[in-house]
Amino acid sequence: MIRALILGGTADASLLAAEIARAGIDAVYSYGGRTRAPADQPLPTRIGGFGGVSGLADCIRREGITHVIDATHPFAAEMSRNAVAACTETGTPLIALERAPWTRVSGDNWIEMANINTAVAALPDAPANVFLAIGRQHIAPFATKPQHSYTLRFVDPPEAPLPFPADVIVSRGPFTLHGELEMMRTRGISWIVARNSGGDGARAKVDAARRLGLPVVMISRPQLPERLRVESVAEVVQWLGHRTRLGA
Ligand code: NAP
Repeated sequence: MIRALILGGTADASLLAAEIARAGIDAVYSYGGRTRAPADQPLPTRIGGFGGVSGLADCIRREGITHVIDATHPFAAEMSRNAVAACTETGTPLIALERAPWTRVSGDNWIEMANINTAVAALPDAPANVFLAIGRQHIAPFATKPQHSYTLRFVDPPEAPLPFPADVIVSRGPFTLHGELEMMRTRGISWIVARNSGGDGARAKVDAARRLGLPVVMISRPQLPERLRVESVAEVVQWLGHRTRLGA
């Protein structure tokens, strides 16, 4: 009998949950609890951290989880590392559902950086209008370049004061090319800082930057331990089906 645990919080995880529910596979969906009103899922849902590797391993044993699917955001590195460790500890099969990163195309002006701190250093010294398309937990280091005017975009309004003054847009994606062009033109955006999330829902800002000839400081994905990784929901369902036929 299969009982899957989906580590979610992404659009792909929602697609997967819908497909798993449709297929009648027993599963639990897990949210990290970052957004105030997460989308409803057609599966039993839990919200909040597990308590590190040991907490996740305990949950796997307690809930009788047979398969873990890591469908978290490509930059949710701590959760992904914990999943590898907890699945190794409990001998539970793990698969990652992770969209491919964006690749540079003709006309892109990307400055690729390994992390947030080097991204801050890549910004110019002269004042610029910078769109920080990164999660709210990661903005603090930009306070060291206060000469810039920052535009931030969050799913929920900020609860705590921001580490620097900023123009905050509260909106949930996916975003369109038209909308991103409009937003960047209206605010006179001259630099963009983004993470290489991949996928269609978030790429409109990158396409808009190319159209407007704007530089993008593109933060590369974090390094993760080796794991089975696929890019489509169908492959995950197939993986679960394969296991069923083998009686795993
Ligand atoms: P993270 O830094 O890798 O995770 C930090 C901690 O949050 C984890 O160690 C875990 O706590 C808890 N956590 C994260 N995802 C969880 C999940 N799906 N279920 C239960 N606990 C979870 O991750 P993050 O960047 O804060 O992202 C948190 C969530 O937001 C993820 O579900 C991710 O898919 C989603 N998300 C992230 C981004 C992003 O840009 N990073 C963008 C869109 C959506 P414990 O150690 O206590 O288990």
